[in-house]
Amino acid sequence: MSAGIEVKLRGPDAYILARKALSAMEQHQIWPTAVNFELWTHCVGDPDGELAREITRIISTGEAFTDNLSDELAAAYLPKARLNEQIRDAGDALTKELASVSQAIETAQKSSVAYGETLASASKTLSERDDAAGVKSMIDNLATATKRVQKENKSLEKRLSDSTAEVARLREHLEQVRRDATTDGLTNLANRKAFDEELERACAEADAKGESLALAVIDIDHFKNFNDTWGHQTGDQVIRYVASVIGGRGAPPRFAARYGGEEFALIFPREGGDIAIATLEEIREEVSSRMLKRRSTDEDLGTITVSAGLAERLPGESAHNFVERADGALYASKRSGRNRVSRAERIAAAA
Ligand code: GH3
Ligand code: MG
Ligand code: MG
Repeated sequence: MSAGIEVKLRGPDAYILARKALSAMEQHQIWPTAVNFELWTHCVGDPDGELAREITRIISTGEAFTDNLSDELAAAYLPKARLNEQIRDAGDALTKELASVSQAIETAQKSSVAYGETLASASKTLSERDDAAGVKSMIDNLATATKRVQKENKSLEKRLSDSTAEVARLREHLEQVRRDATTDGLTNLANRKAFDEELERACAEADAKGESLALAVIDIDHFKNFNDTWGHQTGDQVIRYVASVIGGRGAPPRFAARYGGEEFALIFPREGGDIAIATLEEIREEVSSRMLKRRSTDEDLGTITVSAGLAERLPGESAHNFVERADGALYASKRSGRNRVSRAERIAAAA
């Protein structure tokens, strides 16, 4: 049976075919039973096929078309036709499946040319052949090709996970570089650059939201003397210690930074002067009450003190002026004896 009959039986010519079958049956006085109708439809739809030839032969002998004869013909010729239809249906479904698999693979792995070629030849086999062997060999080829692609997909997956790991490593590296650029190496507090940026940001935010903002500068007292007495490296350890005390009270949203050598800054977003002053007093108290010891020798180093100055931001005040006023308050603390906290007046500093 050729592919043509199936198209006719289900296609736009189906009724013409049915009418032709009925008219031929009438002409040869064949009863319109279901079996006969199926036989004759196949016969007129595929006039050169085996069934049509057999029917023509029987008619030419003048043999009567009994129900028995019809059943024999149906048993001999129709199962093959039906089987072929099933194979074709399965083939159609497979072809559709192949098309979508091929689409997916193409998207996932454009380089898989060999697989595409196998799929194409499988589809071609399907459309050209209608026997079970054709479908079977197509499936075998497909299985082989699938195995190959699975293997290639594994290496693709590995490449993907390798590059994912590489991207994560690069991102981590980038993050580290960013941290290094904004962090002070000795104390791990924010550095001067990060402080300048953060203060600008905090000022802009305070203006935008009409919120209060306070700023402190803190400086170690007589630190030159300390260095001269105990050495620069021990001095570094003291800077780290003071930084840890300030950092301990500078958790976000506050912002603690090493402003310069032995000088620190603390930003208090959305905080008024009183609470900031109280915090600075805690810091001053904690630093001055600690008896310092040199780690390596356990030697007593005495105590150190810090002085601080606090300014509360005036509406619209520039970051520069704000820092100047905090500095002015710090120097007021120094002048009046050190180891103390001073508050800047709420008026603009002289230019
Ligand atoms: P004051 O009480 O007026 O602040 O006196 P001071 O001696 O602390 O002030 P001054 O500005 O005269 O000296 C600051 C000293 O801080 C100078 C330097 O020896 C020391 N210093 C600055 N940066 C560092 C640092 O990174 N490590 C060490 N160990 N010392 C530093
Ligand atoms: Mg100092
Ligand atoms: Mg200083």
